[in-house]
Amino acid sequence: MKTFLLFFVLLTGNRPPIKTVVYLCDSTNPKKYHLKNDCRGLSRCTHHIIEITLEVAKKRKLELCKLEQ
Ligand SMILES: [Zn+2]
Repeated sequence: MKTFLLFFVLLTGNRPPIKTVVYLCDSTNPKKYHLKNDCRGLSRCTHHIIEITLEVAKKRKLELCKLEQ
């Protein structure tokens, strides 16, 4: 795996892959993620707003907020 990663980095000109950051209300059981941290859906959040990558959001089976679809 490490060899593959190194090869990939060399191949793509040493640039780290671009990660899309999304926002999540860090409640006990979040189900949605948001593209903007000033989304109306997030303004209702009474917990902390955390940043995660889109990759992580998909892995956690989160769905895009309805206001941003
Ligand atoms: Zn939203």
